[in-house]
Amino acid sequence: MGPPQGPGSERVAAICEAAPDATVVVAADGAVLWANRAAERLFGVSRQAVLGTNALDLIHPDDVEMAGLSLGTLQAKETGTLLELRVRTPDGWRLTEVVGSNHLADPDVAGLVICVRDLTERRRWELVSGEAGRLRSLVHNAPSIFLLMDGEARVTSVSASVTRLLGLDPEQLEGRPLAEIMHVGDRDRFALTCAEVHSAPPGAAGAVGGVFRLRRPALSDAVAYELTLVNLLDDPTVQGIVVSGHDVTELQEAQHALEEMATRDPLTRLLNRRAILLRTDEVLAAASAAGASACVLLMDVDRFKEVNDSLGHDAGDRVLAELAQRLQSCLRESDHVGRLGGDEFAVVVSPCGPDQAHRLAERVAAEFDRPIHVESKILYVGVSTGIAQAAGPGSDTATLMKQADIAMYRAKRQHSGHAFYGPEDDAGHLERLAMAADLRQALDGRALRVVYQPVVDVTSGAPVALEALARWDRPGHGPVEPGKFIPLAERVGLIRSLTQQVIEQAVADCAFWCGEGFDVAVSVNFSPELTADTELIRHIDAVLLRHRVPHRLLNLELVESAFSREATRVLANLNHLREQGVGLAIDDFGTGYSSLARLRNVPVDQLKIDKSFVIGLAQDERLRGMVQAMCQLASSLSLSVVAEGVEDAPTLAALRAMGCALAQGFHLAVPMPVAEATAWLASCPSLRIPGSPADAEMGTNGGLMTPGSNPEAAASAS
Ligand code: C2E
Ligand code: CA
Ligand code: CA
Repeated sequence: MGPPQGPGSERVAAICEAAPDATVVVAADGAVLWANRAAERLFGVSRQAVLGTNALDLIHPDDVEMAGLSLGTLQAKETGTLLELRVRTPDGWRLTEVVGSNHLADPDVAGLVICVRDLTERRRWELVSGEAGRLRSLVHNAPSIFLLMDGEARVTSVSASVTRLLGLDPEQLEGRPLAEIMHVGDRDRFALTCAEVHSAPPGAAGAVGGVFRLRRPALSDAVAYELTLVNLLDDPTVQGIVVSGHDVTELQEAQHALEEMATRDPLTRLLNRRAILLRTDEVLAAASAAGASACVLLMDVDRFKEVNDSLGHDAGDRVLAELAQRLQSCLRESDHVGRLGGDEFAVVVSPCGPDQAHRLAERVAAEFDRPIHVESKILYVGVSTGIAQAAGPGSDTATLMKQADIAMYRAKRQHSGHAFYGPEDDAGHLERLAMAADLRQALDGRALRVVYQPVVDVTSGAPVALEALARWDRPGHGPVEPGKFIPLAERVGLIRSLTQQVIEQAVADCAFWCGEGFDVAVSVNFSPELTADTELIRHIDAVLLRHRVPHRLLNLELVESAFSREATRVLANLNHLREQGVGLAIDDFGTGYSSLARLRNVPVDQLKIDKSFVIGLAQDERLRGMVQAMCQLASSLSLSVVAEGVEDAPTLAALRAMGCALAQGFHLAVPMPVAEATAWLASCPSLRIPGSPADAEMGTNGGLMTPGSNPEAAASAS
């Protein structure tokens, strides 16, 4: 089109002029090149006035962006998409339907042809006419279902959308109870809802509802519908209960996914701590209401820490996931199981008496005892289970969990597999609490003592270090074994303060010995969890500085598991100490889940062979073989070796023969208070060789203390 030219162009122009739709030709930028008479009418302007103006100026500000976009895209195709745009007319904004076609390349047109049809009248007409019909169409095509029920909850009429959405013929439904197409599990609840709507006020104000699963027989599945019931039984035009509903399956799925995330432990897919505690609340409440029995079983994996420490957390995670599966295989659908954290699981069962709980614990133990294959390794763990039984209505989750925990600790201690909580446990638990309180007080009052046990050179008998060992005389109870109060301090968070005090004391005593002319180091036991404590490590520097004790005169003794936590920080801390000159020893070597390969990578100077390999070594070839191997390993890694637990002369002789350089034990010296240790140092025949002929000639044991010469020895040796 455009300004029509050429043969027959007048006729074409006339047709264009006469077209009932407003037609304009615009340039690529929207400038109006031509307009027909209908356009003049619609826009109420003369052709001359509109030529050269921009067509976009005629469009409603809210629609102009869309129109501009469309004008742009039209230049790359033949026909544009149909748009609804509001345009400016002498009567105000009118709604139009606009479509364009691209004739820029056509020399006769050289523009974009835009047809504009006024929709306003049609819309108005649509609004006033056929209201009921439109509503019907809306109802039938809506993504919702609508139906009417009579007073007995039988369906009287349904929207056509029921066919579409549920795959049900309206005839299949009309005259039948709506409950028939409901999931069996939801029918009782629906009956209650129906009863509720009967007594509710009429109309929307009394709407009741809920989510019900509707069966789709053709698809043999069920979909969740949120149904709303409105009582219009008394409304003469309706006379029924109006039920409307929409599919909430996806919504529910999303909700389930969220719920899963909030209640599941991602590693094992079991309930998480919070969820299992809540579930236990529910089970206990239900059991108490029904007068039923209920048990809580708390399980802690044996030797899991070793797995984690030696093989790493990934392997540990895999072991936990495997164990979770095994645990679940021991349970029924109605039992509840969760992971409390770490390697602890909880199971709640009701009804469940002691016999059942006992059998369940045995089943679980059998499952956990089976070997686990991880990373082409075969691992053996085990489980200790504590069981607590609900005692009537008074039982609450927190108490039962605590009781099961106490029983579990007893099962661990006694290696009994599982244990039932009993009143006697309370006594043990309370006793531990009381002991922790007393220990706290002892630390506050700096009432802990430190005794020293020498480490000597087996050939010269010269002391190389004194190991500081904590002693606690509990008021009213007498001395408590370190084997009792150290683990307690670790469990209740007192170990940091205890260690700090021992270090203070040991460094002060070391400073004193330095002043007396003894060049001897002190060794302090350092609990695994403290190696990540950078602040404490810095504090050690400060203590040494304050007492003017060189770093090389302090050793820290660490058990193997100390090297596997938070690897980078721990290594940074340990390396710092080592660079300063502090000695680091692996204590109780041989009792951990030693990975010899890892030993190469940890910054230590010394191995202390655990006393279980040393005691009785003279009579036991197997032990000698092991100690020999450890000595060789140490020498290949340029580490010094200390044999702990040297209780007699034959052991010392055997060690010497094996080339083990250092030893510690009751035969050499027992742990002594600082004054005695000073006297011992002073009397130390550092050049005399214990057990040597020269030594025997003197009729002594080489100046070494013997068991029984000190009350410590008698106590420790027993
Ligand atoms: P440990 O580090 O292995 O300390 C050596 C233990 O072996 C001491 O027991 C010592 O009395 C005992 N012992 C020494 N020679 C012999 C011997 O010939 N035969 C036998 N059977 N035992 C011998 P103690 O003092 O009862 O300490 C037990 C554990 O308590 C220590 O074992 C250490 O792990 C821990 N401990 C003691 N004091 C501290 C401390 O200040 N901090 C930390 N974290 N742990 C400490
Ligand atoms: Ca030690
Ligand atoms: Ca030791």
